[in-house]
Amino acid sequence: MALELTHGYSSTDMMDVRLPYPGLMGLGELGARCTREQLNPPSMPVPDALARVRDLVRDDIGAGEVHHEIPALAKVDPRFFGIAFAGVDGSVVGVGDWTRQFSIQSISKLFSLALLLSLDGDEVWQHVGRHPSAAPYNELPEIGGPVPRNPFINAGALVVVGRLLELMDDPRRSLLDLLRVESGNPSLRVDENVVESERAHGGRNAVIADLIATSGRLSRPSGQLLEQYLHQCAIAMSCAELAKAGLFLARGGVLSDGRALLSGSTTKRLNATLLTCGAYGASSDMAYSVGLPLKTGIGGGILGVLPGIGTVCAWSPSLDAHGNSIAAAKAMSLFTTLTGWSVF
Ligand code: GLN
Repeated sequence: MALELTHGYSSTDMMDVRLPYPGLMGLGELGARCTREQLNPPSMPVPDALARVRDLVRDDIGAGEVHHEIPALAKVDPRFFGIAFAGVDGSVVGVGDWTRQFSIQSISKLFSLALLLSLDGDEVWQHVGRHPSAAPYNELPEIGGPVPRNPFINAGALVVVGRLLELMDDPRRSLLDLLRVESGNPSLRVDENVVESERAHGGRNAVIADLIATSGRLSRPSGQLLEQYLHQCAIAMSCAELAKAGLFLARGGVLSDGRALLSGSTTKRLNATLLTCGAYGASSDMAYSVGLPLKTGIGGGILGVLPGIGTVCAWSPSLDAHGNSIAAAKAMSLFTTLTGWSVF
């Protein structure tokens, strides 16, 4: 006898749906056979929700200010807006400027942390904390003080970068390769103009790198830390490419070729860290209004994770006081409201 589920799927429907990766946490036997999207279909079809989001954020696009301390970012037109959804089933849909590349900036921090977690496991937490911080992302670390509060403020990200430099021959290349393969775009590249611009105008990060390098906890010189960091921030990607690249976070750590970058439980913990720290001092507001683990960047992008379902990435260059995109944050909130999908 077919098992009836509240959403109208029967166990016979599910027999045909097999995922290319191990079972989704918490779904047990059903999890091995069908996606959470099928168990929990959106309240509004995703393409309709995306189109509606674009209509509803029209007045917010261009509100706030484009990041102005890095001249190469200040030149970006504030009227851009895009949003893309990538499903664990391989579907990718978007509206607006969803295929236009932008500077991923601090969204890169989640990928370098994932790479480090894959090599170093829980050892990471000996070097950096996982506590929310209300301070600005470029807060100076205390000399001789505790480890940086979390891996997403610049001080913590520079520690992650320092550990990667200790453990890998060429972390710059490894990170780019990971993003190229997962996004499906082998031509992804670092925008050297952004690197140059940030090198010339990002004196504060040079100070943070010096303080981290001289803490006695890392063996790499500050110049190497800073260069690795500037290059990861300056990678250019579109909403569609970021959404695809982040899908392993929705698949319990499993990459597009079926190999596990992270275990299910490490992925759960990384997602938890994104929820509590991914938007700096606005993380609790984002948890409240969006309800997803997410990472923001001063290029105006926000990448969010819907575990078991997919990823959503929104982009618009104008920022609030925390350095988070105003229109992208609103778009993410509308998307989870319209689809009824969030982690809560
Ligand atoms: N490259 C930027 C900086 O370090 C990244 C900050 C961000 O995106 N929040 O200042």
